[in-house]
Amino acid sequence: MTTLFVPKESRAGERRVAASPEVAKKLVQSGFDVRIERGAGDEAGFPGSAFEAAGARLVDSPDGYATADLVLKVAPPTDEEGERIKSGVYLFSLVDPYRNLGLVRRLASRGAITFAMELVPRTTRAQSMDVLSSQASIAGYKAVVLAASRLGKYFPQLMTAAGTIPPARVVVLGAGVAGLQALATARRLGAVVEVSDVRAAVKEQVESLGGRFIDLPQMPTAEGAGGYAKEVSKEFLDQQRAILTARLAVADVVITTAQVPGKKAPILVTKEMVEAMKPGAIVVDIAAGQGGNCELTSPDREMTFSGVRILGPSNLPASMPGDASLLYSRNLWNLLQLVWKDKALAIPESDDVVMGTLLTRGGKVVHPAIAALVSG
Ligand code: NAD
Repeated sequence: MTTLFVPKESRAGERRVAASPEVAKKLVQSGFDVRIERGAGDEAGFPGSAFEAAGARLVDSPDGYATADLVLKVAPPTDEEGERIKSGVYLFSLVDPYRNLGLVRRLASRGAITFAMELVPRTTRAQSMDVLSSQASIAGYKAVVLAASRLGKYFPQLMTAAGTIPPARVVVLGAGVAGLQALATARRLGAVVEVSDVRAAVKEQVESLGGRFIDLPQMPTAEGAGGYAKEVSKEFLDQQRAILTARLAVADVVITTAQVPGKKAPILVTKEMVEAMKPGAIVVDIAAGQGGNCELTSPDREMTFSGVRILGPSNLPASMPGDASLLYSRNLWNLLQLVWKDKALAIPESDDVVMGTLLTRGGKVVHPAIAALVSG
């Protein structure tokens, strides 16, 4: 029988778990011997009893790794976790491969068959397996909720006996999955929302969600492969900052989400731009984990500059571990279907989603872009 192990995440602040009881039940029914580390789901609101009711067995961590054919994880393995992974084990996990080349090398040399969940291709067929989308959506939502809970004013316009309160003004930078969810959430709370992105194609989506798109002159052709943004020139970023300075100066909340895959996040909000903002305004920089979109962001710290509070949460999905784990584990389950045939693990060589996600195998890094970086 194929043994599947779900460890308790050990990275600081990581509260998600790679399998919910719902997915554990599906795994058991599809023929896996499912073992969950004791306490793995506690922070996500999934007690051990819920996994046992799903047909899984609770084990202690070292036992789990030693007997596993397949390991499901959320956060990139730590050094210690990496040491426990046996040769030939299938590992499904976030790896953050562009920034964790040491870990990528280690997983290859341990002989792991690693599927890096952030490499799932952004295609229509792979949408149900796309953890970047399911988790970015949570980040966008939570960033707005966080800002609303800290802001010293209402989000909606209010007519009260004591007079009218104008709505909060929110600016969202980057209209990918997180930015669009931030826009939708801020609109639901009644704010007036403006959005900037380098991909002109998102203007329509922004407007359909009730946002105003900030037009940038001489928009570069910034859409690269898979609909992602390409890196833009310094001249363009300077022009963009000049336009954004005026928008940010009247904003109560700024949510920054701009990223370019494999690169450091672009600096869109400089110290001077923060100085020009209103005292009491709040910046939530979701790109903090990738270097930040605001020059003053310090990951996982809150700082105040010129009366503006700047928050740099690097792992917002982990702050909503229940739904984040529910969605993440469904994404994993959907991907797993592609390598689980007739109760055996096998890699279908012609499947673009499987092959696009496969990072290490047979002692080598097999993902072409990451292999090129590793060999340097
Ligand atoms: P992301 O997290 O890589 O980046 C967030 C946003 O930042 C992007 O919209 C990007 O254009 C923007 N950005 C980059 N540089 C910027 C700058 N200098 N100024 C302002 N904005 C900047 O993006 P994402 O959420 O992962 O989505 C990327 C693309 O993938 C989108 O087109 C999305 O629709 C597409 N997508 C496709 C699928 C699918 O088909 N399965 C799933 C999810 C997303």
